[in-house]
Amino acid sequence: MKNRSIGTLFDKSVKGRTAVLPTQPSQSAKDMLPKGLLRQNAPRLPEVSELDVVRHFTNNSHKNFSIDGNLYPLGSCTMKYNPKVNESIAALPGFSSTHPLIPQLKGGEAYTQGSLQAVYEVEEVLCEINGMKAFTMQPMSGANGEFTGVMLIAAYHRDKGNKKTKIIVPDAAHGTNPASAMMAGYEVINLPSKDGMVDPEALEAALTDDVAALMMTCPNTLGIFENHLPSIVEKLRKIDALLYYDGANLNAIMGKMRVGDVGFDVVHLNLHKTMATPHGGGGPGSGAVGVSEKLVPYLPVARVVKNEDGSFALSYDFPKSIGYIAPFLGNFSVYLKAFAYIKRLGKEGIPRAAEFAVLNANYLRKSMESFLTVPFDRICMHEFVSSPPEGIRALDIAKALLENGIHAPTIYFPLIVNECLMFEPTETENKDTLDELIELMHEFVEKGKKDPEYLTKMPLTTPVRRLDETMAARNMILTQQEKVK
Ligand SMILES: *Cc1c(COP(=O)(O)O)cnc(C)c1O
Repeated sequence: MKNRSIGTLFDKSVKGRTAVLPTQPSQSAKDMLPKGLLRQNAPRLPEVSELDVVRHFTNNSHKNFSIDGNLYPLGSCTMKYNPKVNESIAALPGFSSTHPLIPQLKGGEAYTQGSLQAVYEVEEVLCEINGMKAFTMQPMSGANGEFTGVMLIAAYHRDKGNKKTKIIVPDAAHGTNPASAMMAGYEVINLPSKDGMVDPEALEAALTDDVAALMMTCPNTLGIFENHLPSIVEKLRKIDALLYYDGANLNAIMGKMRVGDVGFDVVHLNLHKTMATPHGGGGPGSGAVGVSEKLVPYLPVARVVKNEDGSFALSYDFPKSIGYIAPFLGNFSVYLKAFAYIKRLGKEGIPRAAEFAVLNANYLRKSMESFLTVPFDRICMHEFVSSPPEGIRALDIAKALLENGIHAPTIYFPLIVNECLMFEPTETENKDTLDELIELMHEFVEKGKKDPEYLTKMPLTTPVRRLDETMAARNMILTQQEKVK
């Protein structure tokens, strides 16, 4: 039978059709509410049976692509499996039923000791993993973390009376880096890369006294580890410029290298990537920011502090703080899941995850280099970039994968690689699944070479096929006409 669940539940509504009837509210319940708050008319809800509702949501959930359904090798996003135990822990009633304003009320801290302790301890463990002095859990995304980090850098220079107006960003960075630096009021200096890394000569030329910071991503968006880190750190120190580390790619180095030990002053993490809360579709994130000693005074308030008696409290007593970045100490449930993930993997598991992520990416890279162009012929970290052969478009490969139930790799990013296909398998995929991807990719390239139309007509059976993406963004249709039955 045809799958009929496209559309909303209202489309299925038939007057008088019901599911289980809830008991009518008693008169006394009605009397308890002020008259003016009682509704005059029944709410307009779809009139459907229970089976209609169940089928509607079950069928629609299958139209969405998710990591629970299949492989999701979306480079730069670390779409790893999120073990269900993380969800259960974040959903414990003691966490999920607490009103987020309670700790901020007078005396409210007494009722939220467990939640405050969780914030305190996740900050501690992130300091340990990254070699930083303190963390703030407030930022709600990677980009929000970058903005926070750059604001901290600005506060530092302002406090010291440094006249700094520029931030250097290598061209292999994520686009959010220059955007965050601009939003915080800096001029952005774009640094060209050489062999997929920072070009030391270009860096030398860009280093003037008015440079406030350098924003490094390591491994960068090409999946390449930066070889020149120590000399870069040394050069920036000489002009009192700070070092920002975009830690979105922490998956490759966690438990292996601590950015604080290398000399970085600020790092943001994408807990919704590295720490098992895959964020496909732009779901809630957590861009926790760690700092070295010299930036601690500027961290956002409120901060969770530990009293002498071992209890936890919110403190606003940081006069140099940049203030609030986000309410309610950020996306609490997202970092609870991250905390559960970290605790479960522990000291041995965290570096093992990084090792498997790097192994899986290199297995894919080596297995596909005979039929894809891999521009940087060296060991990659947790992801790598490649291009299809001449005449085949990255977009068409992506659509063919979707037709076969595998999510596309990231395409056309980073911008410095032509027809870029960027694969990140993560550590949670096994060899059989990776082999399936390799086989499909090989098949698409071979078929695409013989018959270009084979790929350009893909996908055939997805809920929507090829969209006019420009029109979809420019001419959005956000309401649905009601069908009257
Ligand atoms: C994902 C990503 C970001 C931005 O993070 P969001 O959470 O999407 O705002 C920044 N830098 C790098 C390298 C990334 O991969």
